Amino acid sequence: MGIHHTVTVTTRVDDEGTPDERRRVASVTMVCTAEPTDGCRTYPRCDCEVFQWNPLDPRFDREGHERESGRDCWLSEWFENGSAVYAGDDFDDMRDDCVPAIDRTGHIVLAEFHDWPEWKWMGEPSSPDFGSTEEKNDG
Ligand SMILES: [Zn+2]
Ligand SMILES: [Zn+2]
Repeated sequence: MGIHHTVTVTTRVDDEGTPDERRRVASVTMVCTAEPTDGCRTYPRCDCEVFQWNPLDPRFDREGHERESGRDCWLSEWFENGSAVYAGDDFDDMRDDCVPAIDRTGHIVLAEFHDWPEWKWMGEPSSPDFGSTEEKNDG
């Protein structure tokens, strides 16, 4: 999943040249290049939020929710809503999404998911091993 998700942060400087000059985040965009059958684009046709994919059954999960591939990346939606929260060590707690005002683009990993997804840049020393996260999501 990690290599399919690229985030680009762009910044701008407000009040340039004044004592109040401050660099701010202008936009945070995420692009998903996952295959239709990848985990982030596969979820229940019934839109149930809790599901456990069954490795032995490509069509239904353990509780009978029908599995549907080729949908929109679920993570994209969180970024579009500004609801994906940055969880790296240099997070900015003045912003709801905690993204620091540093121009950057790169692959991301999902650090945690409680009520919203928390992400980090891939390859940061504190990033979790992505494989284990994906396994948890897939049941
Ligand atoms: Zn269901
Ligand atoms: Zn995706």
